[in-house]
Amino acid sequence: MSYQTMKVDKVTINNMQVHYKHVLDNKPPQGAIFRAKTENAVITAYQSGKVLFQGKNVDAEVNKWQGNDADLTLSSNSHIKKQVTTYTPPNNIFTQSHIGSDESGTGDYFGPITTAAVYVTTEQISLLKQLGIQDSKAINDKNVQALAKELATMNIPYSLMILHNGKYNRLQQSGWSQGKMKAMLHHAAINQLLKKIESSFYKGIVIDQFCQPTVYERYLASEQQSIPPHTFFMTKAENSSIAVAAGSVIARASFLQEMERLSEQIGHSLLKGASKQVDKLIATIMKENDESTLQQIAKVHFANTKKAAAYM
Ligand code: MN
Repeated sequence: MSYQTMKVDKVTINNMQVHYKHVLDNKPPQGAIFRAKTENAVITAYQSGKVLFQGKNVDAEVNKWQGNDADLTLSSNSHIKKQVTTYTPPNNIFTQSHIGSDESGTGDYFGPITTAAVYVTTEQISLLKQLGIQDSKAINDKNVQALAKELATMNIPYSLMILHNGKYNRLQQSGWSQGKMKAMLHHAAINQLLKKIESSFYKGIVIDQFCQPTVYERYLASEQQSIPPHTFFMTKAENSSIAVAAGSVIARASFLQEMERLSEQIGHSLLKGASKQVDKLIATIMKENDESTLQQIAKVHFANTKKAAAYM
């Protein structure tokens, strides 16, 4: 028999309690929040945030929670103390219940930025893979929209944020970088989703990385916000996390839908991307409308706005 202790925050203790809900001890010892018994170990969580694992296969339980906190302190009976300060997701997160978020529309001159955070449970992972959920960049527009519809009929909690062009341009004018807008969109989507799923167990939150985590932290801090516990960053996360992949599909489908709506409104089929074709289209639209029109349908600080003058 061996033992290990771990110091964790309240959110982790809450997650643990939900995780072990079927094997909880009716009479936890004094000072303990809960005691659970699995085939691997007895787990006792204390008010102080200390969690004790005792039994013949302690590691099997400890591994579930390791790397769960940005500043997790681990101590074991070998007296080795390890300070984990990383935003790299633990490997086992992708096969467990977790949250993923991704955005769309950031490189497109026309249309909004959309961001979706999705909560996927362990049981839903294989089903979503079978369905063909993957990075939306690898799926054509028609299939993205069909998959998003499919997701909407399933019991998959998500939240979607749309930053429309009018507000985008106002924020940009007031000094916000696109990076800050993205950070605040991810943050808002994740917070809204966390409220929706209440106390459901999740191993962590995976954000498809678009800037250094320290920069992301700074963006949030400038709006008096901070990163929720158990948040991880990873580039190309759509390929590892089915929740991020689902987020990419929902965000992309929403972007495409907004593009259709704006196209109808303006009477031209708006193009994706920021190509020379886009410059020509801007010129066409400018000839028919006044200056304020672009503010409502485009990210006007893109170089395309100036380049369009060549076609006027
Ligand atoms: Mn992405």
